[in-house]
Amino acid sequence: MKSFNRARLMGKYWRIIIDGTGLFYFKEKHCGNCLVTTITREEDGKEIKVKRYYHKVLEAKLVLSADIMISLDTEFIENENEEVSKNDCEINAAKRLLERLRKDYPKLPICLQGDALYAAESIMKICNKNHWKYILTQKETRQKVLAESYEWIQKSGGARKVGRIGRESGDGEYINHVEDVAGKEETANMYRYWYEAEKEDGETEIHEYQWITNIELTERNLEEMIEAGRGRWRIENEGFNNQKNGIYDIEHLNSRDSNAMKNHYLITQIADIVMQLYLSWSPLIKDINQSIKNTSSRLLESFRRQPVTNEDVSYIKRYTTIYLE
Ligand SMILES: [Zn+2]
Repeated sequence: MKSFNRARLMGKYWRIIIDGTGLFYFKEKHCGNCLVTTITREEDGKEIKVKRYYHKVLEAKLVLSADIMISLDTEFIENENEEVSKNDCEINAAKRLLERLRKDYPKLPICLQGDALYAAESIMKICNKNHWKYILTQKETRQKVLAESYEWIQKSGGARKVGRIGRESGDGEYINHVEDVAGKEETANMYRYWYEAEKEDGETEIHEYQWITNIELTERNLEEMIEAGRGRWRIENEGFNNQKNGIYDIEHLNSRDSNAMKNHYLITQIADIVMQLYLSWSPLIKDINQSIKNTSSRLLESFRRQPVTNEDVSYIKRYTTIYLE
């Protein structure tokens, strides 16, 4: 019912944020699909190498409003078997996940977002092929030639600057098609945002952010693009952290069985969708300030005690508008 339409970037693109996180860590081999790493430990003054086993997950979250960001798809990062010479990685998992997104949502106008890890030409290529947009965090260490080219154009006066924009009234700057100078194939329109902030000790420090995108940058859309780029941190800082430290405790191992482990993770994502919708639909819940744990217990109780009646069903069949805070 178009309730979420305002979340679309430039009134068109649904923002999908991909990010990976570690879920479970084991001292001993847990299953045949474990990722393996070797760490060095000191024992009796000697350095010894020991193996550690772990499981990771890659999430694609859909941004529906400032408060609602839901799991659209999940890909587990795991090895096919114990014989593989190299661990599965986030980029490979992303390729599998993006292929599934393309098949499942062929008509959805998507803007893919991710941190500097995903600012790889393979990911940019997939986006261009699928007619998706992307906004990826740029780091000099990730795309060195692009960074050098940007600096060169900027020093020669080829960058557009827009002052006093964004939440902190900072400075924005952009250059379209840096890839032409860098000799790269994939579209790299680059932009950055920086502002000064005072630290606790009174000194000022500069915060800076940089992104690569295939959306053509203009003085008019720069501010919206900066906001969109910065919004990505929410999945890392709020999304996963809530799930890890908050009510869901996704790192708690409820079963050692790898299928049960995955199922529990996926069900948690569904619970999180219900919870987020519930919290943003009902402003009263925030006002009465009950703990998030209480809210979820009450929600569960209501599922138990208040079965859906025919009247409820007839109500949802009628035209209904839901207003989100
Ligand atoms: Zn395992």
